[in-house]
Amino acid sequence: MISVHHLDCCTMCVIGGRRLVHERGYLVAHCLLLETERSGLVLVDTGIGTDDVAAPRRRLGTGFVTFFRPLVDAARTAVRQVEALGFDPADVRHVVVTHLDVDHAGGLPDFPHARVHVHIDEHAAAMARATLNERMRYRTGHWAHGPDWALYPSGEGEAWFGFAVAHALAGLPEEILAVPLPGHTRGHSAVAVHAGGRWLLHAGDAYFHRSTVAGPSRRTPPGIRLFERSVAMDRRQVEANHGRLRELIVATSGQVDVFCAHDTTEFDELASPAQPN
Ligand SMILES: [Zn+2]
Repeated sequence: MISVHHLDCCTMCVIGGRRLVHERGYLVAHCLLLETERSGLVLVDTGIGTDDVAAPRRRLGTGFVTFFRPLVDAARTAVRQVEALGFDPADVRHVVVTHLDVDHAGGLPDFPHARVHVHIDEHAAAMARATLNERMRYRTGHWAHGPDWALYPSGEGEAWFGFAVAHALAGLPEEILAVPLPGHTRGHSAVAVHAGGRWLLHAGDAYFHRSTVAGPSRRTPPGIRLFERSVAMDRRQVEANHGRLRELIVATSGQVDVFCAHDTTEFDELASPAQPN
């Protein structure tokens, strides 16, 4: 049995605001804190961390800070929110990251003893930083503490709702799976969690606005479309992932809660669900 907390670990007032990016005028960094029976606390993605808040331009890069305008507030970091929920951050024994972009891996140094689960191709890309794009998106300070990496490979695992491969993760219950969805980055993955009789699928940055996976009439805000294409390592894979997620939503008739890392509306619906009348 897993209990789920939804955390926004980096609110971003992105340039372009309501008209071009999101109707609420800001984006979130949607992370999950999972309470498990035998594996302690598990964090899915980490947002930005306390070191980033202390020195945002140096830690996150001038480009990220200028374009995304993150709210610099230590209370929003995962470690402070874990404490605010009454937990000891030392009990976060595992972190599963969808990928290692600055706004997903920034909190890693706040959990220096946690095992960090990531796709082997993502880890290799972040260590190599082979292209200009990758030198900007991956910040070495986020793993300078030497995380205990747990790397899962391509091509091994079980099928999951039409996806060919889903990986069980070492030391974690079978209700937590990584589902590779490369494209945004070389080793980007979604994370599936079975809790409360339902599956959640944290799709990371496989898309950025819920309209992208809602159906054929795409009304994805233009700034989001442009951004998504400009940062993608493989645009065709990104589009294929959109299609696969749309198919998943249709095939499961809403039985899987699919959400991405940054859509504010999706976050609010899951973090504060409307009460039935
Ligand atoms: Zn992101």
